[in-house]
Amino acid sequence: MSIFDCVPAIATINVLTDSTVSKMKYFTFEGHTFSPLYLAGLAEDIKYNYLKVSTSSEPYYSAVKNTIYLNFPTPKNAGQRAMIVHEATHAMFDFQGRKMDVATSESLSFIAQCMYARLSGAFNLNDPEDRLSSWDWDANGDAYYLPNDAVFKKGWEIAASILAGGVNIFAVSGRDVTEMRSAVAAHPNYKSNHLDKTDFNGYR
Ligand SMILES: [Zn+2]
Repeated sequence: MSIFDCVPAIATINVLTDSTVSKMKYFTFEGHTFSPLYLAGLAEDIKYNYLKVSTSSEPYYSAVKNTIYLNFPTPKNAGQRAMIVHEATHAMFDFQGRKMDVATSESLSFIAQCMYARLSGAFNLNDPEDRLSSWDWDANGDAYYLPNDAVFKKGWEIAASILAGGVNIFAVSGRDVTEMRSAVAAHPNYKSNHLDKTDFNGYR
């Protein structure tokens, strides 16, 4: 690890080991189990350089390079900390070598991202408009939601169900699975590849 990459790596370790992650809940989505304990454990993988963190113009995870790329060196708000949880969730399933398509992988990550944001205390949970979202202004100056927003809208709902579930491992319902996958398919970044297999291959 170059000295340059230490800043995003330490920032990621700090998020994965924070008290918000410790409050996250287990859930299954199409047979794949999200584990907050595993997520926190990835901090060790960063310390020993199995998992790397670097910066790029867009945030993404590379299973080939076992690297989380962030579009900031350190998070400035809960939304950016939740983005780290999203990318680290991809690493969780890569390191287990789980076979899944892009729609499932992104669904798991967006739900985890929304769950972290809900637990962060940075959002008014009584106001349905106050959530992770993706929107813009039209020519009249009115706000409108982008196609990117469906993943946050649905992920925010599912995260609420998980947190209210009161069970050890919450199983996301078949209906919610279908709707979450559709939300990913509608996202411009995943329109063409949502049915492709991920290249998750373990620590290699
Ligand atoms: Zn993703």
